[in-house]
Amino acid sequence: MKVAVVKETGPAERRVALVPEAVAKLRSAGHEIFVERGAGASAFFPDEAYSDAGATLIGPDQVCEADAILMVGRPDATLIGRMRAGQAVFGLLTPLTDPELANRLAQASVTAVSLDLIPRTLSRAQPMDALSSQANIAGYKAALLAAAAFGRFFPLLITAAGTARPAKVLVLGTGVAGLQAIGTARRLGAVVSAYDVRPETRAEVESLGASFIELTSVGEASGTGGYARALTDAERAAQQAELADHITKHDVVITTAQVPGRRPPVLVTSSALKAMAAGSVLVDMGASVLGGNVEGSAPGETVVTDNGVTIIGADNLPSTMAAASSAMYARNVSSLLTYMAKDGAFTVDLDDELVAGVVITRDGAVIHPALTKAEAGPAAPASSAPSAPPDPSDPSVASAPEPDPAQSPTPPAANGD
Ligand code: NAD
Repeated sequence: MKVAVVKETGPAERRVALVPEAVAKLRSAGHEIFVERGAGASAFFPDEAYSDAGATLIGPDQVCEADAILMVGRPDATLIGRMRAGQAVFGLLTPLTDPELANRLAQASVTAVSLDLIPRTLSRAQPMDALSSQANIAGYKAALLAAAAFGRFFPLLITAAGTARPAKVLVLGTGVAGLQAIGTARRLGAVVSAYDVRPETRAEVESLGASFIELTSVGEASGTGGYARALTDAERAAQQAELADHITKHDVVITTAQVPGRRPPVLVTSSALKAMAAGSVLVDMGASVLGGNVEGSAPGETVVTDNGVTIIGADNLPSTMAAASSAMYARNVSSLLTYMAKDGAFTVDLDDELVAGVVITRDGAVIHPALTKAEAGPAAPASSAPSAPPDPSDPSVASAPEPDPAQSPTPPAANGD
């Protein structure tokens, strides 16, 4: 197969879909690799490294010659305009938060493969799980950002000039990113507590040396596919009120809570922020244009409240560690490409649950059930849904973002975190 790697055009995107090491591996599997000049430069992989690995350097107009285009983020209008009917494109396309992109890719008659829709509970999908690889990096970086912004030490320090008590860190949401944030904060010497609506994460939290906080006002809220479900209005209010007591007892709070296809739940209200001590730091990994886990946070922005609390709105943290995140993503996308390439040709076997989970467009149509059903009717608002939320890893389940009248209907999506 002819495989092309493009230079990413997303805002502040520094990652690249294949690193030179992955080029060599795909070549030895029989594929011909083409890399757009400069594609790896922002991740510190120069063009020569790709040439040395056996790739052919190309200009942007030549990507249409490949059978498959590999990218990290989403194609812009220029790239879609260059695509050839029948070509495949792989990326973190996030079609659930922007169904319009899927329509545009269908109009271009390309086969679009979205790595963020990988059915993560399938064990054969684990090497392709780009959400996990990028969330791991994001969780690590969030803990480092918090430590850098905090005006005191994370570890206990006993010196001739005095003793510093260890920082108290609270991690809200203990999925992949949250667990990595806990591990990193612990390695820096902080005393860490954590909370999640899925009580099954307690054992993982405790195995990392953190203590698990149990709320009395909110019960279990596990959904399908290992994800949380959206809380009801009453549950959310009770959770926010009870969490506020814990939040104010901590120096640093890292929030990672997500519900697939919905706006992130608010866990830290403005009244909780007002009660925090001056010098406290929050890193909101849920920050998005729809709002985040912390009231008032915005992606890519750091604000200091009137009472001296720093709120860091995380924005594509994996991109800030582009060399590591590209290397991991390259393994994920190479695994998926290899899985779908049979006898040297790109195949789409929709009877395979894994393939049906990731292919969103084919032969000029949007075919992923989560998108076709979402088009047929609006999803129930998250606040009224004690039942399981949409599960993107389950192709039989419809999914759509929670409507937000204050926002545009098709927000841009943050990739990979
Ligand atoms: P995520 O990014 O969707 O959410 C992060 C965390 O936020 C989750 O733990 C979720 O429970 C929590 N959360 C959501 N709403 C919350 C609220 N109101 N209050 C507190 N916490 C809230 O999650 P993720 O990191 O992508 O992982 C989701 C699950 O998928 C995890 O259980 C993970 O272990 C699982 N997973 C399984 C596999 C596999 O089986 N091979 C692979 C990867 C991930």
